[in-house]
Amino acid sequence: MTHDIFDNTILCQKCGTKMQKAQLEKNGFLLRAVICPKCSDKIIHPVDEQEYDRYVNLKNKEFKVKMRLVGNSYAVSIPKEIVSFMEEQSRMMDNMVRLCFEEMGRLSLNFGEEEEIKHKELRK
Ligand SMILES: [Zn+2]
Repeated sequence: MTHDIFDNTILCQKCGTKMQKAQLEKNGFLLRAVICPKCSDKIIHPVDEQEYDRYVNLKNKEFKVKMRLVGNSYAVSIPKEIVSFMEEQSRMMDNMVRLCFEEMGRLSLNFGEEEEIKHKELRK
């Protein structure tokens, strides 16, 4: 375990109250933060804030990938920067992904755990 800046006592800049650790969720992304219990001022962990920016950039990026015929299947390459990012965030458990023919012209790949399956079933 490395030493984290949030392990230190952090005092609120506005009122001097000791800030408390919390987790914030932004677009499905968890960010560590400290929040002032008195005036609700908050500081997001700088590392997480950077990661979040990377996430937003990747999310909006469109990749053009080629389809290749491999045996009886078509293969597409998933850009390494996406997979690496998910691995870093431990959002990807193994090499199995769920693929779904969502609608004409659209396939989805699911790297997540059970939770997403439930969402899918609800939509039916
Ligand atoms: Zn405060």
